[in-house]
Amino acid sequence: MKPLNELIRPNIQALKPYSSARDEYNGADASIFLDANENPYNTPNNRYPDPLQRELKKLIAPIKHVNAEQIFLGNGSDEAIDLVFRAFCRPGIDNVVAIDPTYGMYQVCAEINDINYRKVLLDGDFQFKASDMLAASDENTKLMFLCSPNNPTGNNLKRAEILELLDKFQGIVIVDEAYADFSEEPSFLKELDKHPNLIVLQTFSKAWGCAAIRLGIAFASPEIIRIFNKIKYPYNVNFLTQQEAIHMMQRHYEVQQWITSLLNERKRLIKEFEKLKCCRHIYPTNANFFLTKVTDAKKIYDYLVSKGIIVRNRTNVTLCKDCLRITIGTRPENDTLIEALKKYPENKENEDNV
Ligand SMILES: *Cc1c(COP(=O)(O)O)cnc(C)c1O
Repeated sequence: MKPLNELIRPNIQALKPYSSARDEYNGADASIFLDANENPYNTPNNRYPDPLQRELKKLIAPIKHVNAEQIFLGNGSDEAIDLVFRAFCRPGIDNVVAIDPTYGMYQVCAEINDINYRKVLLDGDFQFKASDMLAASDENTKLMFLCSPNNPTGNNLKRAEILELLDKFQGIVIVDEAYADFSEEPSFLKELDKHPNLIVLQTFSKAWGCAAIRLGIAFASPEIIRIFNKIKYPYNVNFLTQQEAIHMMQRHYEVQQWITSLLNERKRLIKEFEKLKCCRHIYPTNANFFLTKVTDAKKIYDYLVSKGIIVRNRTNVTLCKDCLRITIGTRPENDTLIEALKKYPENKENEDNV
């Protein structure tokens, strides 16, 4: 990896961050706060939240086996994705490399920030090679985006290739682990200490069941986390979100139960789905969804909409022609999906014949 001060944008390196009232005073013992022009009434929502979310980070650190200084919390992982562009990429000059297909936000953020986004096509098994990513890069490539388990394909990327990229790429490698809780493979968090160019993204939106509170996590070296803290909005994670997340940390065991149920349901749903005549293929998945190639994605999507069931039509995504992405729901929800599909004309034919 190049030294961090060569990767970071010069204006960000030089930036003197905004200093909020709660940055300047953060002792716990004071009882009268006349420093932030808050309203003294309507506690507790009258007070600005902790800009660095210290209490919450203290709870997350031991569960994830990292130090609190290796954690950045943001308004969804999407905030962290945007911050890496703003921290490292000079608009109109730098570029990034990403696998294709993958999560759409990387490209959107690249375009918003006027950063050239280079795609490296996955192979037939939705895998990538580190050498192909490196071949697509040049001296202005600051970031590489990987997503494992990948969205919308569902599979884990090969660990050996990710490790090779971490070793050989001179810039930052982002490994988006939004779905890692559903995978048996170990998280890349344990590689953080060995690879100062690694950023791991996780989120409260999937396994943790908290998409509504908007809380994403970036794990990285303390040096990278300090850069994020310097450029983020001062109070980027609101008080209600911090409170709810602290509450969720005490329900850690429940999250594990949800994951177990969803993995059982995934197995059951896929088994039922495979029997349908409209199903051509189900791709291997390590996530709480699966990608399936069907006879006609648009027709089946529209049919399901007419039954009040919404899946994701991915037919226009690279390598995903006629593919639907289906999230694992509750058992009754999954049953309703299968029952509806059994009544889809093409599948009914099948039934009549046997
Ligand atoms: C759902 C998802 C996220 C989560 O984004 P949030 O902003 O945290 O809700 C991140 N990355 C991928 C690949 C996802 O599919």
